[in-house]
Amino acid sequence: MSQILERPKNSRLLIQDFLPFQKPLVKSSATSISCYICGKGLEDGLSLTAKHTPMGSLFFCGSHYYLK
Ligand SMILES: [Zn+2]
Repeated sequence: MSQILERPKNSRLLIQDFLPFQKPLVKSSATSISCYICGKGLEDGLSLTAKHTPMGSLFFCGSHYYLK
């Protein structure tokens, strides 16, 4: 009988221990790919192309890729 009574206690402790801790929301411009000139991205239906510049690798849309 004592085992049956202890069971819910143990399981409740386990659930508290394994609660998923909140992941910090990392919101940076690096994760969202958008055109360096106009700021539009894949969400606007544009295809972006990476281009290596002195400032690093930047993304440009189709109409701004050939501009300098
Ligand atoms: Zn653009």
